[in-house]
Amino acid sequence: MNFKDYVTIVEDWPKEGIRFKDITTLMDNGPAFKAAVDEIVAYAKEQEVDVIVGPEARGFIVGCPVSYALEVGFAPVRKEGKLPRETIKVDYGLEYGSDVLTIHKDAIKPGQRVLFVDDLLATGGTVEATIDLVEQLGGEVVGCAFLIELSYLNGREKLKDYDILKLMEY
Ligand code: 5GP
Repeated sequence: MNFKDYVTIVEDWPKEGIRFKDITTLMDNGPAFKAAVDEIVAYAKEQEVDVIVGPEARGFIVGCPVSYALEVGFAPVRKEGKLPRETIKVDYGLEYGSDVLTIHKDAIKPGQRVLFVDDLLATGGTVEATIDLVEQLGGEVVGCAFLIELSYLNGREKLKDYDILKLMEY
């Protein structure tokens, strides 16, 4: 299946000069969305993962069906102030300024094999910060799965020590 047929490119959103990759048109299509999730599930089986980790919000959309299919847990990574119990946090750089990501302290057990899942790899800041959280908790990141890699932004440079799956590349 050519997944790119189901992605909509939105010009100048959220600001001028950005060509946003809208995956809601892929999610809209049942067989296409299932086929995309199935590819990540197959990869997760190969990597023998114990738990899926995904950042809000689109990491939940892609990661949760993978977790369901494998019958393994899903650990949400969220912006500061959103998770109700004790968390650890990491600061990460954005194009302008910085932001904070958090995870529940007990979301990952030491030694667990963790698969990171998100919709898109751009600069790699989000995945790098999430890996930091997982490793602080003693988890082992055994793979990073994305629907889309924007290879011209070189996010992969931050993931030299990790295995990557991507279903599409721009
Ligand atoms: P990074 O941290 O790698 O620079 O950015 C990746 C994050 O930004 C992902 O969580 C992703 O959801 C979001 N993102 C950045 N650009 C796009 C885009 O064009 N389309 C979509 N769907 N998400 C994007």
